[in-house]
Amino acid sequence: TTFKSLGLIDPLLEAISQLNYTVPTEIQTAALPHALEGRDIIGVASTGSGKTAAFALPILQKLWEDPKGLFACVLAPTRELAYQISQQFESLGSAMGVRCATIVGGMDMMSQSVALAKRPHIVVATPGRLQDHLENTKGFSLRSLQFLVLDEADRLLDMDFGPIIDKILKVIPQNRTTYLFSATMTTKVAKLQRASLSNPVRVEV
Ligand code: AMP
Repeated sequence: TTFKSLGLIDPLLEAISQLNYTVPTEIQTAALPHALEGRDIIGVASTGSGKTAAFALPILQKLWEDPKGLFACVLAPTRELAYQISQQFESLGSAMGVRCATIVGGMDMMSQSVALAKRPHIVVATPGRLQDHLENTKGFSLRSLQFLVLDEADRLLDMDFGPIIDKILKVIPQNRTTYLFSATMTTKVAKLQRASLSNPVRVEV
């Protein structure tokens, strides 16, 4: 399997070759065809599997086809992970001029509000700080969202972000696409999955 045969568009193939990714990883090969068909996805995969590109590539491809509003929101359990995810969106989206904002706790609210006002395509966030902006940053909403990603869902729930995620689910469009990635499939993850995904395909590596 090659990235080209998976059906990715040229700007993404260009970025992929600049990053020296020669072949898709297992999770990418398994997830991309379903993702490009528009399905919700449960990915059982851990860090190092290439899971970030597995969800970033289809989001960037759909963004290219129809760039409107704040397009995707990725929830991650930690700041470090959030920054890594943003970095991957930026490098994979480099040939498309994608704008990404990273919204994490412990950083200045005001400069994050400024970043949100610049109309990013992608917001990568830790749940608590995102909720803080939803409540306090004028003009910021998730009403135009097309994609929600719950990354490392088991860790999100271990860190007790469940109630905040439930609140966020209430203020995003119902007819969006959702990807949930988790290293483990716990009872709590299964419950979140039922609350947030519709007719998902499960891919496991
Ligand atoms: P992740 O599991 O998403 O944290 O990715 C782990 C690392 O693998 C990151 O540094 C990615 O840049 C890299 N990576 C992702 N996909 C590929 C690929 N197809 N070929 C080579 N490296 C990759």
